[in-house]
Amino acid sequence: MPLSPLPLWPLFDYPLILIICAVVIGLCIGSFLNVVIYRLPKMLEREWNRQCAELRGEPLPEESTYNLAIPRSACPTCGHKITALENIPLLSWLVLRGKCAQCQAPISTRYPFVEFLGGLLAGLAFWHFGASWQAVTACLFLWTLLALTFIDFDTQLLPDDLTLSLLWAGLIVNLFGLFAPLASAVIGAIVGYLILWSVYWAFKLLRGKEGMGYGDFKLLAALGAWLGWTALLPIILISSVVGVVIGIVLMIARGRDHDTPMPFGPFLAIAGAIVLFFKSHLIQWLHLSSLAF
Ligand SMILES: [Zn+2]
Repeated sequence: MPLSPLPLWPLFDYPLILIICAVVIGLCIGSFLNVVIYRLPKMLEREWNRQCAELRGEPLPEESTYNLAIPRSACPTCGHKITALENIPLLSWLVLRGKCAQCQAPISTRYPFVEFLGGLLAGLAFWHFGASWQAVTACLFLWTLLALTFIDFDTQLLPDDLTLSLLWAGLIVNLFGLFAPLASAVIGAIVGYLILWSVYWAFKLLRGKEGMGYGDFKLLAALGAWLGWTALLPIILISSVVGVVIGIVLMIARGRDHDTPMPFGPFLAIAGAIVLFFKSHLIQWLHLSSLAF
């Protein structure tokens, strides 16, 4: 199904202006992703606790509203509510020199880092794909992967709200063939899920323990839905290499032992982002082009 071209202001005919606008919007989205990364796991935990209490027939806990918008962000040390001026991506952190405006407690470099990545990825998407629906939807894809990476790193969880939404979104964008033919996307989603599902069961039967979580299957299914089934092999190869390299670095740096579980989601997400930009090169390099349809 063909898609009409992206409606754009004439100003966006200049690639540099387009990329700068994308970076600025990406920085703001990055700021929102910080909220998602911090709050979504807590929101899910609250929901599970409520459901458990309900099942046990216990009275439901009285809780104040907690979602992505409420309450307003505050300093964890002194409770100072962050004002709009203190919430400008990157700039506020730099002006405040990474400290709370009221109590001077240090603010983690994580926040400006996620904002920076949000802007960088949006800029790269528009630089690579130009003013197109591919660029717009690639931003959504990359931002979701960014949030998943940090959530998995922090909590070893890949929330369904993100992985399954990403999967559906992948099938929808490829209804218009934006990144892969629809048939390839559907097969990519199914095979992506089944590959890690098989690895999981093989590992469980052989070693008697779980090597990864169900969230990883859903994430690879989502990547298959976006990039098509021919992207699965490059994604698995790259995520394994990235995983081994980072694993060795962590083991040396922190003395992390073999039995500490390491989240696999961030490596899948990083590999998905790399394959988005270099898919045709990688497929050619791996001699998969004869299989592509
Ligand atoms: Zn403070």
